[in-house]
Amino acid sequence: GTVLRDQRSLHVVHMTAEMAPIAKVGGLGDVVTGLARACLTRGHNVEVMLPFYESLPEDQIDGLQHDRDFDCPKGRVWDGRMQSGSLRTSVFRGKIDGIPVLLLRPDWGSCNIFRGGRIYGGSYNELEAYLYFSRACLEYLKISGRQPEVIHAHEWQLSAVPMLYWDVYHASGLSRPRVMLTIHNMDNSGECRQDEFAYTGMPGEAFATVDKALDERTIGHNPERLCLMKGGIIYSNAVTTVSPTYAREALEGGAAGWLRSTLAKPDVAGKFKGLLNGIDTALWDPATDPLIPAPFTPERLEGKALCKRYLQQGLGLDVTPDKPIVACITRLVPQKGIHLIRHAVYRTAELGGQFLLLGSGHADGDFRSMAAHDFSDSPDVRLMVMYSEELAHLMYAAADMVLVPSLFEPCGLTQLVAMRYGAVPIVRSTGGLADTVTDVDSDSEVGNGYSFGGMDNASLNTALDRAMQTFREDRQRWTELSRQNMRIDWSWDKSARSYVDIYNHLASY
Ligand code: ADP
Repeated sequence: GTVLRDQRSLHVVHMTAEMAPIAKVGGLGDVVTGLARACLTRGHNVEVMLPFYESLPEDQIDGLQHDRDFDCPKGRVWDGRMQSGSLRTSVFRGKIDGIPVLLLRPDWGSCNIFRGGRIYGGSYNELEAYLYFSRACLEYLKISGRQPEVIHAHEWQLSAVPMLYWDVYHASGLSRPRVMLTIHNMDNSGECRQDEFAYTGMPGEAFATVDKALDERTIGHNPERLCLMKGGIIYSNAVTTVSPTYAREALEGGAAGWLRSTLAKPDVAGKFKGLLNGIDTALWDPATDPLIPAPFTPERLEGKALCKRYLQQGLGLDVTPDKPIVACITRLVPQKGIHLIRHAVYRTAELGGQFLLLGSGHADGDFRSMAAHDFSDSPDVRLMVMYSEELAHLMYAAADMVLVPSLFEPCGLTQLVAMRYGAVPIVRSTGGLADTVTDVDSDSEVGNGYSFGGMDNASLNTALDRAMQTFREDRQRWTELSRQNMRIDWSWDKSARSYVDIYNHLASY
């Protein structure tokens, strides 16, 4: 549909460790790009500040040009004393996928921050790198004379930004911005020793109080430690996370761990909100997707059948429309319910379906040996331990069902993409999965998938078995469900409006 431009145009500067498509590891990258694009379309002035990782493909950055160099304050603690210094930093401008970006790179003659072949896991100290980057972003805003209405910081990596902004910058020239923090995952809250905070150029002691950034965990408590996310929450003017249910699980359950008490403080609870992510419907569009062999729409689903055939053929599986394809596209980390995925492989094969795994990450050993021992030359199972954008698109297009059995899930994008491609999600009802998937057997009106609650194999079976049965016994109902799912609007338009409401609120005082 057409998107109206907002009445008031705001200047918003994102500060982030990831940005799709070229600096993406997970959902964080997708969210920054999707939200930034939606806000640009609504007429706002949006810039994204991102580390200029050595691994970024420069040919995919349009109009890349040098902007300026500056000395970024940076310190360290040596022998109990803080030594102040600076790190020469270069800024480049350009566009990634049409979105204006500012890329910051430190002098590699004196450090190896952001060097290496991939985004995370290089040989540099990540905490040092992102504390430096947080400081560098603010320093650049100041010396370039920018006064955005909103600084939008993301995740633990940029959680020092609100702290530094209000304690260092606000009174010294960079005065207009209000700061918003979005938490995409509370699993990592950015533990940081007081002396390590010196990488920002500021001593950590000033933040080491209970009402600021002191780490308050009771088990393994270390009075020396700061928690960046806590500091970010306390110092930000607005704090969001990526679904209403995950926000509730953080306040009422265990999703935030000990940070629950921080979020529950009266002055925090009032500024904390869960906003559902959208998906990039231009990138994920089965009607135009260049990565799939046949386009399809809810009205013309023949293309989806062709995609299924094509993938079955390509992977050397039994080529048949009658076996449902259950796909799982995921990072292989404990959060994603690895033991449930493993169980689902066997259960699907047992029930006469086909299982396809596209998984990336560290916990890949089991799947490699499963593939070799139990499913080599199987006509029904392929376990692919790798990251592949192309295969992901093909799998969403070919799949009848997409499995997301996460133990916790802040929002989850795969179930949304699955629906857009006419697949039926099978999910564990948690976080954003609970907000976006309603079981067809609990509500036939808005039902769009199958869900289960427990963390054991039997719970998963209650959902998977029903899905398989419906596919087998009532194909007409299945096709109708697939068609309905494709018509649901998961675009950023809706979610972006909620973000803009908060931006406006912040800019109004
Ligand atoms: P998270 O951010 O926790 O990884 P999300 O569901 O929010 O989970 O986002 C995952 C994104 O990464 C989706 O776009 C999904 O398609 C993609 N993805 C995950 N694993 C792979 C993989 N092995 N190959 C290709 N894409 C993947």
